[in-house]
Amino acid sequence: MTEITDHLAIIERRVAAAVRAADRPADVLILAVSKGQPTAAIEAAFHAGIVDFGESYIDEAVRKMDTLALPAVTWHFIGRIQSNKTRTIAEKFDWVHTIDRAKIAERLSAQRPADKPPLNVLIQINLAGEPQKGGVDEAGAAALAALVDDLPRLKLRGLMTIPPAGLTPAEAADHFRRVASLAKRLARPGRPLDMLSMGMSGDFETAIACGSTCVRIGTALFGERRRGGV
Ligand SMILES: *Cc1c(COP(=O)(O)O)cnc(C)c1O
Repeated sequence: MTEITDHLAIIERRVAAAVRAADRPADVLILAVSKGQPTAAIEAAFHAGIVDFGESYIDEAVRKMDTLALPAVTWHFIGRIQSNKTRTIAEKFDWVHTIDRAKIAERLSAQRPADKPPLNVLIQINLAGEPQKGGVDEAGAAALAALVDDLPRLKLRGLMTIPPAGLTPAEAADHFRRVASLAKRLARPGRPLDMLSMGMSGDFETAIACGSTCVRIGTALFGERRRGGV
């Protein structure tokens, strides 16, 4: 697992260089996307200094959480949300990046345990209207942000996006900039929207240039995923 330490050092250097090139604050979180990776890989990343982990499949995530005995890990749910899984997400996770429906937001708020802080949530933006991905368009985001404001156990923290596959870096930058600009327009007092979850292994430097504050890194950190989860 020494590779993970080496990969993390390389990613941290690349993030720092992208932050410097963009002349912006060094406020970029490296979220380790551990879906399809064994618990030993999560332990190795934790010991290398990673605190934030992202998972996409709820059953796989819970199996790992129950096996791992790591103090103070912050879990982020980054997958599509089925309404019969909201209770587990509300109980087990600290952040959810993929809010895209009123019903899901309402259930998460109702099911968030009283002894935990409000659940941090991001609205997923799908500018191209790709049917295979979750997310809402710009008008949908405004409506959903207003709804989440009124849910007592959710805290709206920002936006998340996955650009369409196969874009050139210039096209991806355009996509990221539109989402960053939407976050600025939707921000208001009491709703800072300071978290922009944009960029993965293949495009995180472009995303940082466009204002990302959270890069979701899987394969560049851990290597290839096991198919079908672990
Ligand atoms: C799997 C996944 C990632 C990580 O992708 P890599 O290309 O392996 O870095 C990031 N974000 C989401 C939403 C994912 O599902």
